[in-house]
Amino acid sequence: MSLRVYNTLTKQKELFEPVKPGKVGIYLCGPTVYKPPHIGHLVGPVIFDAIKRYLVFKGYDVTWVVNITDVDDKLIEAAATEKTTVAEIAQRCTKEYLDALASLGVDTIDRFPKASEHMEEITTLIQKLVDQGFAYATDGNVWFDVTKDEDYGKLSHRRPEEQEAGNRDLQGAGKRNPADFALWKAAKPNEPKWDSPWGPGRPGWHIECSAMSMKYLGERLDIHGGGMDLLFPHHENELAQSECATGHPFVKYWLHNGLTRIKTKLAGGEVKNEKMSKSLGNVIDARTAIAELGPDLLRYLILSTHYRSPIDFSDEVVVASRKGLSTFGRLLERVERTLGEPLSDKFQTMDLAAGNLFETDHADFARAVLAHKMKFLEMMDDDFNTAGAIASLHELAGVVNSFMESRRVEKEKQPDVLAAVASATQTFKSLCTILGFFRVKPPLTDGREKGLVDDLMKIFIAIRAEARDTKNFTTADSIRKHLTSIGITLEDRPDGTIWRKD
Ligand SMILES: [Zn+2]
Repeated sequence: MSLRVYNTLTKQKELFEPVKPGKVGIYLCGPTVYKPPHIGHLVGPVIFDAIKRYLVFKGYDVTWVVNITDVDDKLIEAAATEKTTVAEIAQRCTKEYLDALASLGVDTIDRFPKASEHMEEITTLIQKLVDQGFAYATDGNVWFDVTKDEDYGKLSHRRPEEQEAGNRDLQGAGKRNPADFALWKAAKPNEPKWDSPWGPGRPGWHIECSAMSMKYLGERLDIHGGGMDLLFPHHENELAQSECATGHPFVKYWLHNGLTRIKTKLAGGEVKNEKMSKSLGNVIDARTAIAELGPDLLRYLILSTHYRSPIDFSDEVVVASRKGLSTFGRLLERVERTLGEPLSDKFQTMDLAAGNLFETDHADFARAVLAHKMKFLEMMDDDFNTAGAIASLHELAGVVNSFMESRRVEKEKQPDVLAAVASATQTFKSLCTILGFFRVKPPLTDGREKGLVDDLMKIFIAIRAEARDTKNFTTADSIRKHLTSIGITLEDRPDGTIWRKD
């Protein structure tokens, strides 16, 4: 089986062959850290986490870089509004972004380079473009001259007049052509600035990504990802600068994910169905979404749609995702209960166990399990069709459940049947892991359990209060100690006792 990926550059599905055999470099445009992360910021990381996991599963040595844009107009505006510094906002929002990824279990990103820490690479790259005649400096600004790049527009497949419209926001004094864009911006008073051959200033957004991606992944990237909204002008400009500077192709496969459309009452939001952006005011912040839904449900919701399609975030989709995910959870729980122990490495996957099973009554079952695994892999090989892969996991879960029922394994516990079920479920679980499911232990305050946990905690707190009222301090202390042992802290306040989970 070979992997094929849809390349925005060629508008076709192509056979995936990395630049260097066995190695893959992925660059995904990260956040501009001027506000707390919202749910749209989680989509790219979840998709590319599954992509990286799948590539690693296929045996590639993968390096994945996500940049942090901490130098940008939006940060400067936010700092002025909040009466603080750009550095303070960037530090706070970067931490919130990294915390959100950690709670989601997105732990496959190898580097998070920050623009502010790469001025040398950025200015060197700009100088290279100036020296080669692709860029020119005027009044402390440096502009990329799009007319010098014959290929300009080849990624977004846009006509020249549309390109001009896309770059309108970058119009400034001294530009030779309306579509030219800024590589370096002269410093205005009270703005963060760095020294450069063109005077003090700061880089444009596009050049930051070119400089940082090439520093960590070399001059030829295998995969460059980002939301569809970054295709133009950001990625077009990244491509133009990078290829003019190096004289060879910059990225082999450009992958663009669909945008998030939101329609939910979560977090008290109004019901809307619009493309998600900060200006719409319908943003669900990442922390709320993770706390309310939990990491697995968010992943399931995001990966249930093919990455190139828009992701609808609605109450209906949440309900359907919860139902789908609970089918997976119930299977694992059922099997572990039947086995009387958790699934662990001691159980072989079906690939290893099938040889013996083919000689038994369970041969058809073993074949069906392997066929569904193949289907999962075929789906992933088809441009990372995670939605199709999830569908094949449901079919596989159905096969295991039916087998358990037909063999009455919960009652009879025949060792050979138990072993076959364990291998099938081990296979199921390993495929779930490729999509990143069931890796993060759900926090106590997750999803549907939240209400129940809150109610139970109220009971514990009430019993402890009664014990203290009757001077039964042994019981009161015992309750606190037991709760501490599972990471729950009680805090007595003038208006009552509250609890929190570490
Ligand atoms: Zn970028």
